Amino acid sequence: MNVAVLGAGTMGHGIAQVSAMAGHDVTIRDIEREFVDDGIDSIEANLQGGVDREKITESEKAATLDRISGTTDLADAVADADLVVEAVPEDVDLKRGTFEDVEEHAPEDAIIASNTSSLSVTEIASALDDPGRGVGLHFFNPVHIMELVEVVVAEQTDEETVAFAEEFVEDLGKTVVSVHDTAGFASSRLGVALGVEAMRMVEEGVASPRDVDASMELGYNHPMGPIELGDVVGLDVRLDILEHLREELGERFRPPQILRRKVRAGKLGKKTGEGFYVWEDGEIVGTSGDWGDDE
Ligand code: NAD
Repeated sequence: MNVAVLGAGTMGHGIAQVSAMAGHDVTIRDIEREFVDDGIDSIEANLQGGVDREKITESEKAATLDRISGTTDLADAVADADLVVEAVPEDVDLKRGTFEDVEEHAPEDAIIASNTSSLSVTEIASALDDPGRGVGLHFFNPVHIMELVEVVVAEQTDEETVAFAEEFVEDLGKTVVSVHDTAGFASSRLGVALGVEAMRMVEEGVASPRDVDASMELGYNHPMGPIELGDVVGLDVRLDILEHLREELGERFRPPQILRRKVRAGKLGKKTGEGFYVWEDGEIVGTSGDWGDDE
């Protein structure tokens, strides 16, 4: 198939890579040549990592790269596409405008997918004259490593579009979950629910961040506890998602005061060096506040 990926950033280059690895011809489009080139460089570096770890051969790497081309011209990128996946920034007007442009230039039967992580796919797809071919394809970061893809079924999505999207994902060797278009889909809603309760427990003094995390890591086999995960994702990002889920789904997603205080103080987690934990060079070196379990 011909796959067009719009946006060569964190997600776009990953989606282009896994599509090309599955044998599709991929065109990746960004607004500046430099961003396109950076995206393709990142793909090459990922593939080289695969060669170094003996997951793929040198010739598989070369063949994958051969199937990828880049452009800054949207009309060129989508002209022969069977599937278009947009991974442009998370802004509903930008995504709706992108869907409109794609519909103008892509073949009539192309499927048009959004990689939005939180916006309404129904609202994005309603920018199309034929919204039945709009769908959500929610990949996870890093795309070439993460197993899951949520197929987000909007109000207007046709059954054939859903079937096409599910088959495409399975063909990438990934696992599909199909979710009706609701705030937080399945993954964010559940992940954030756990994270917010963990923060409330820390706020109430039930246990230290480290002990809350250990209860999930060692008791439930989660690879990372919910408090640490919040620090890794970014507490500002967590707060935004909670505000959105609260608006859509109710008070159970009300952000705790402890989270608001940390964000106001610029303690955003790993990226600023402190959140619920203290971080140095990407590693946890202590707990923020007086929990008596600092290293
Ligand atoms: P990013 O900022 O890394 O990349 C976005 C890219 O889109 C940039 O290179 C930008 O130049 C480009 N762009 C802007 N306008 C464009 C246009 N009109 N046409 C083509 N390209 C354009 O962002 P990202 O993290 O890759 O996120 C992209 C989408 O994926 C967002 O909707 C985000 O919510 C979603 N998402 C992100 C993650 C994540 O962990 N980063 C996970 C799942 C989904």
